[in-house]
Amino acid sequence: MRVIVVNSGSSSIKYEAFELEGLSAAAKGLLERIGTQDSRLKHRWLSPSGGWEEIVETRPVADHREGLSFILEVSSRARSGSAPPEIFAVGHRVVHGGEKFREPAIIDDAALGTIEELIPLAPLHNPANVAGIKVMRELLPHVPQVAIFDTAFHQTMPPRAFHYALPYDFYQSYGVRRYGFHGSSHCYVAKEAARHLGVRQEHLNLITLHLGNGASATAIEKGKSVDTSMGMTPLEGLVMGTRCGDLDPAVHFYVQKRTGRPFQEIEGILNKESGLKGICGVNDMREIESRADGGNARAELAVDMFCYRVRKYIGAYFAVLGSVDAVIFTGGIGENSAVVRARSCEGLSALGIALDEQRNKVIAGGIAEIQAEEGRVKILVIPTDEEREIAQQTVDTIERVKGRDR
Ligand code: AMP
Repeated sequence: MRVIVVNSGSSSIKYEAFELEGLSAAAKGLLERIGTQDSRLKHRWLSPSGGWEEIVETRPVADHREGLSFILEVSSRARSGSAPPEIFAVGHRVVHGGEKFREPAIIDDAALGTIEELIPLAPLHNPANVAGIKVMRELLPHVPQVAIFDTAFHQTMPPRAFHYALPYDFYQSYGVRRYGFHGSSHCYVAKEAARHLGVRQEHLNLITLHLGNGASATAIEKGKSVDTSMGMTPLEGLVMGTRCGDLDPAVHFYVQKRTGRPFQEIEGILNKESGLKGICGVNDMREIESRADGGNARAELAVDMFCYRVRKYIGAYFAVLGSVDAVIFTGGIGENSAVVRARSCEGLSALGIALDEQRNKVIAGGIAEIQAEEGRVKILVIPTDEEREIAQQTVDTIERVKGRDR
């Protein structure tokens, strides 16, 4: 029996199938360029001999319905005629759960309706998530489906952390508040840290740093999120690949007046043309580090700004938590860039955060401890696995509901 995880974006669908027993990965893939004549599907699966095999196929795919049918067809072909595995459940990543969803939800008509009502809060993401859910319900009508929300992990934030200092009516009438994102990743690495340290999660204070193309920091007190750097949308907080992060709100009005550009265009610039890309022209940290090494001043500035912002958040969240057991680096940059980890921890030894240069440089995969001997705070590098976390939460949700119904 398998659990399928679907992460449906506006022009792509990422998916992964796990064996229910032990949640080991059985197949995974990515369909890109939905809505074009040359949508490309890369499907990988674990063959009976234990190695990964791969098919890459290109064809016109008009929408998510055709996309998911394409994926199911190629997956069945990859099994080369062997009986299809029974599907225990489908877990859907949903970006925005607003205040309605504090935990995963079994998808029925009412839950789907509520996710649709939240579209104004996440117009770039929730419509694609909804499309994926609708099609999978049609294609697999007897399989239970569960929605896992990026925001749910942060619903434990107290009012002082989630409110903006705006007229209170903006919150009451329009839901303007901080929600936070990357919840599955922050939750997964917190659990992994607890397992690694042999301490129950509810006894741990952590600062988790998800540093990828999107980036966010979370303060976790006794296992629960009490503050996070992304806000009402994923635009707030750290410097990201193409998003600006924290910004004086007056900048929007000033730029609009000076350039005459409409707000919609400025919104696009803040999301897609800012961050690392805005400063040095590219958003890929590997490329930026190599340009900086070659003496490119803008690339060096981009790395410096990125790490400085991370360091500011570590300091702020230290103050929020009072004491910290571990700082955790994850995401493509957090897991792979020794330079970013080192520069983000620079000058923090007074807080007990000190990194061992050698340990930081040599990471062999899996969980690594990279703090110096004298560091009071553990510094961990933990590979994230959002799909696995979604699969786990999907299974837990179904078992919880079954337990309630028994
Ligand atoms: P993600 O969004 O989590 O997939 O992360 C993507 C980011 O990780 C990109 O900016 C990549 O350049 C960066 N990344 C991946 N590998 C490395 C590496 N070895 N060194 C620096 N950055 C890396």
